[in-house]
Amino acid sequence: MPDTAKLIWRGSRAVLERGDAFLTEALWPPADAVSLRKDDVEADETSWILEAYFETPPDTENVDAALAEVVPDWPGGGVLETLEDRDWVAHALEGLGLVRIGRFLLYGVHDADKAAAQSAADASCVPIRIDANQAFGTGHHPTTEGCLAAIDRLAGTERFQNPFDLGTGSAVLATAAAKVWGAPVLASDIDETSVNIAAENVALNGVGDKVCCIVADGFSHDDIAARAPFDLIFANILAGPLVDLAAPMRAHADDGATVILAGLLMKQRADVLAAYENAGFMLVDEVAHDTWPTLVLRAV
Ligand code: SAM
Repeated sequence: MPDTAKLIWRGSRAVLERGDAFLTEALWPPADAVSLRKDDVEADETSWILEAYFETPPDTENVDAALAEVVPDWPGGGVLETLEDRDWVAHALEGLGLVRIGRFLLYGVHDADKAAAQSAADASCVPIRIDANQAFGTGHHPTTEGCLAAIDRLAGTERFQNPFDLGTGSAVLATAAAKVWGAPVLASDIDETSVNIAAENVALNGVGDKVCCIVADGFSHDDIAARAPFDLIFANILAGPLVDLAAPMRAHADDGATVILAGLLMKQRADVLAAYENAGFMLVDEVAHDTWPTLVLRAV
């Protein structure tokens, strides 16, 4: 078994979020998992903790120096801990606590009692169980948060009958859509492990009969062609693939369909938006975030 290590920083949420993006997207080799959370339950926005997990222990000084170059006010002083052999992805995710985003309450199995109590006390609450595993989408990343916030806003005013979750990861968004609209949802991922986890998660959430999980790259799958045109598509993947998918996205979206895009950085927003405007979409809403904006578009 390889040695596993984690690097830990403390600081403000805004600064550590920029570090989170860098560690998983720009650092080479990247961190294998990153967890960003409050230092304790009562902490405010200035007391957050960022933990980056590495299968091979990194050079702490180099990582801190690289972060200081790209993240203004980077706190530095990363502390390296070597971990015993264990499922470190699960460890990164366990104990992250409940996350409330609009009507959605995300929880892991270890918080099932707390989630049940909150749901019982609040009729508007839509609980979603997402356990620690290797698929992206616990609700702790601002891109997942942004998509869930967009779905929550749309749920107040719109009804969708044929949603498609492209890049489903843990199936958190597909589960949210199935729960609020009661419609059949198609959920795809390029990664087979994620699709297996997605299928487990939709079953755990009681929507296994509504959400169909498939392995597919972009729109390349017979089931996608058969179920198009969609009236709602959400895609939380990176800016590059989002731009590449703009024209096929329009081809698979019904006239007037809604598309939710996340995974783009603020500095990539203009390019992504231009690609989608050229493909036949207009911006109708946005979930604002300093680093990770979420765009809501309409097919025109
Ligand atoms: N939808 C989840 C969420 O919002 O939390 C997961 C989003 S995660 C950032 C992106 C997911 O998209 C990953 O599970 C990845 O495997 C998948 N993905 C990346 N490129 C893809 C592609 N071309 N086609 C389908 N899935 C893709």
